Amino acid sequence: MPTFKTSGRSPELDVSVVIPLYNEEENIELLHNSLDEVLSKLGCEYEIIFIDDGSKDTTFKKLREIVDRDPHVRGIKFRANFGQSSATDAGFELARGEIIIVMDGDLQNDPRDIPKVLAKMEEGFDVVSGWRKDRKDKLLLRKVPSKIANRLICSVTRVDLHDTGCALKAYRHSVVKRINLYGELHRFLPALAKVEGARISEIPVNHHARKFGQSKYGISRTFKVIMDLISLNLFLKYLQRPIQFFGTIGTLFLICNFFGWIALFQGFARNVYGMEEFNLLITIIVLYLASGLQFLFLGLIASLIFITGKKKHVYLSSLIHKKLV
Ligand code: UDP
Ligand code: MG
Repeated sequence: MPTFKTSGRSPELDVSVVIPLYNEEENIELLHNSLDEVLSKLGCEYEIIFIDDGSKDTTFKKLREIVDRDPHVRGIKFRANFGQSSATDAGFELARGEIIIVMDGDLQNDPRDIPKVLAKMEEGFDVVSGWRKDRKDKLLLRKVPSKIANRLICSVTRVDLHDTGCALKAYRHSVVKRINLYGELHRFLPALAKVEGARISEIPVNHHARKFGQSKYGISRTFKVIMDLISLNLFLKYLQRPIQFFGTIGTLFLICNFFGWIALFQGFARNVYGMEEFNLLITIIVLYLASGLQFLFLGLIASLIFITGKKKHVYLSSLIHKKLV
């Protein structure tokens, strides 16, 4: 088995597997056994990081038992259910592997695909995404919305994948460590990685029907994904220059304000305005001025935030209730 160590601030291990869990008590043991079987044969240094995203069942109790008996496993419990993106992000923060693999904790992804994914990474890619060619989900509620969402996501993000929604993905350490996840953004990780200059590929992987527990998402997810897609679209366009986005809107308001003044002075010169028209025009002018300035300052603040950067670890540590490391 080759090692994946690279230059720079070198990660301590070869592979980290990050798995978010929310009420997966029937799946965690089976998944751990299956991972153990595959990973122990790889001949590399690895760790498994389970993130309990505020489960209400016995998931964390089972996680604790697994951490106690398997030194390869680390665990986190969130204070409450903060969502799959935050859970994945916390896993990324903790991960020490050069390659970080993310997969679902409900046995729908197959750990036996991991060697295939790693082999693809070895070809020199920074992100390898699974493609559920033979997907075992409901046609109308899952496969059709997912196909539409996939086309939409691909056209917005310009990352051409057959199946952006497949949870099984591998990332190079250097790529994910710079990404902040929130909302439903874990779905767009390849696009966020592309911003970091990542080389992306995909390979067909197995997919199984969920045997235990329930899916945590309904059809309302489509709406949330679209909202995040809109913000991602803006983010991708204006990531490094928010002042251009807000500044353009602000300038448009200020141009309208300028024409307002012209209309006011011309009206005065020709003596066509009564008190009512005068008041209305002044109100509009002031509104344009205030909105224009507000958008300009918003742009400046956004640029400032971008430059200073968010202290990601401070935010994440506020979500964590217990750490089993
Ligand atoms: N999950 C999570 N937090 C949530 C929802 C889901 O950590 O708020 C986990 C869940 O336990 C599973 C993965 O994210 O490991 C994918 O969730 P699910 O199987 O419900 O999604 P689906 O396969 O139906 O898209
Ligand atoms: Mg699932």
